[in-house]
Amino acid sequence: MPALHEAEPIDDLLAGIAACRACSHVLPLGPRPVLQISPTARILVASQAPGTKVHHSGVPFADASGDRLREWMGVAREEFYDASRVAIVPMGLCYPGRKGGGDAPPRPECAPLWRARIMAQLRQLRLTLLIGSYAQVERLGRGAMTERVRAFRDHLPEVLPLPHPSWRSQVWMKRNPWFEAEVLPALRSAVREALA
Ligand code: SF4
Repeated sequence: MPALHEAEPIDDLLAGIAACRACSHVLPLGPRPVLQISPTARILVASQAPGTKVHHSGVPFADASGDRLREWMGVAREEFYDASRVAIVPMGLCYPGRKGGGDAPPRPECAPLWRARIMAQLRQLRLTLLIGSYAQVERLGRGAMTERVRAFRDHLPEVLPLPHPSWRSQVWMKRNPWFEAEVLPALRSAVREALA
């Protein structure tokens, strides 16, 4: 578990994030931080960055990736969007634009500004889902995503690395059938345990 900073009033933190313009000059759709937190959350979905649908709706994982992630986790939308139980915090809080045929990486300015202050609010976490390589590198250091997911048992019960649930994950799952057979049952059971 990383060291926790002193928590500030959560409303002050959320107001500061909502007003953030630190990298607005490079955000193609402008700043709109999208996250879900509360001090009682048991599960943290540590993700990458919002896509365009999420940017427009302001709701984290309100897209096909979210449908896939909820199916992987075995949770209904109501559970997923219950901030008192599930926190959702991407490495970059605003939509970063496109690069090389896909979404650009999370803005590098964002985590140093906000991540420790957000994490200081989340003191009752039992399980952190590291979605994609950016969240995995931040928590576990450098490493290959597929090998890290394959070694998921090494990090339980606190942490579970997962691929990003984008459409690309369908191709990846076909190549790595152990994910559906071994990781998803372990993920569902870890989620149930953390929420119990
Ligand atoms: S991505 Fe992060 S640092 Fe950049 S404007 Fe949004 S909240 Fe601020």
